[in-house]
Amino acid sequence: MPGTWAIIVAAGRGSRLGGETPKQYLHLGKHSILTHTLRKFATHSKVDGIMVVIHPDDSPLFQDNCAAFTDRVLIQHGGDTRQESVRNGLLALQDQSPDCVLIHDAARPFVSDEVISNLVNVANEGTAAIAASPVVDSLKYAPDTTIEKNIERAGLWHAQTPQAFPYSMIVEAHLSVTDQENHTDDAAVAEACGNSITLIHSDRSNFKITTNEDLELAKNMILNPQNNRIIMESRTGLGYDVHCFEDGDHVTLCGVNIPHTRKLKGHSDADVGLHALTDAILGALCEGDIGTHFPPSDPQWKGAKSDQFLEFARDLVIKRGGKIIHVDVTLVCERPKIGPHRDSMVTRMSEILDISSSRVSIKATTSERLGFTGREEGIAAQAVATIQIPAEN
Ligand code: MG
Repeated sequence: MPGTWAIIVAAGRGSRLGGETPKQYLHLGKHSILTHTLRKFATHSKVDGIMVVIHPDDSPLFQDNCAAFTDRVLIQHGGDTRQESVRNGLLALQDQSPDCVLIHDAARPFVSDEVISNLVNVANEGTAAIAASPVVDSLKYAPDTTIEKNIERAGLWHAQTPQAFPYSMIVEAHLSVTDQENHTDDAAVAEACGNSITLIHSDRSNFKITTNEDLELAKNMILNPQNNRIIMESRTGLGYDVHCFEDGDHVTLCGVNIPHTRKLKGHSDADVGLHALTDAILGALCEGDIGTHFPPSDPQWKGAKSDQFLEFARDLVIKRGGKIIHVDVTLVCERPKIGPHRDSMVTRMSEILDISSSRVSIKATTSERLGFTGREEGIAAQAVATIQIPAEN
């Protein structure tokens, strides 16, 4: 049957994921990874036929896991390397004489319909094309974990599959490279024979399930599909607060009681750090300020611990379907010294916010004896909070 065929490469052993079962037969919810991948191609209007390349030992596994597809796909045994497996699949399609083929890794079940369509359109015009996503991280060259140089990321892409080719082009290429060359993808095989390849923009959700972390992410994407459709946006909020000193024997800063010759005056416990941070989170949410929600005139907040103000702001983020990414508080005072208490403050704030302490920063500075903080009349605090919440339309 001419037209477009998909070759699904499912002959690997998946040794990096451990265990006895090859990774393409591990389950995401009710179905194996391979089943999810097959369904993408079996239901696509531009795909006319499917060839699955499996390991010779995996026939029972394939029958058990992919029974719904056994009468809709052709099966071919793979070889010792990926390159050999693809070649076997290509040659087994000779009788079908496809116009073009999509070669795809079984372990990429999240390829989008749109990417498949775009690849087929290009390949049908006689040009090879592969799915790829742009490199977004900074790249470092560090052969022994010490950075030797930075790599310019502009123009760099992660090659994915599917990779689409006119059938005759990719068969000729695979027959002309040697097994010793062992190219890691079919684009490299085609390039080795002088063909030029077009990139089709794909996104990072089309990742290859390789590690246990990938597997957990993939399970979550299958079991909670609503999560996949939510586009998050980052928000930043700024907070500022001041409290003056009065007679007393301790201050409460960032949730920690610190012995001092004076205390901070306020309706609540006057925790200037937590107040600034609460305002920062409220600011990121555009939800007013701490006085809006906890008016100083309301007697119920007299002497209140400020933990609950911060918990309130945290819960507002959670109710909006968001999460707190990072907080950074700066305390401005001559005394008490903050350094000895910094670690316990970070621990306490990470407990209140229910985030890792690696996402909590506390800094301190004096104001060089200038102004009200310099004269030790009070303490000031600034805070920045970065959150993610579902994007508004
Ligand atoms: Mg305050």
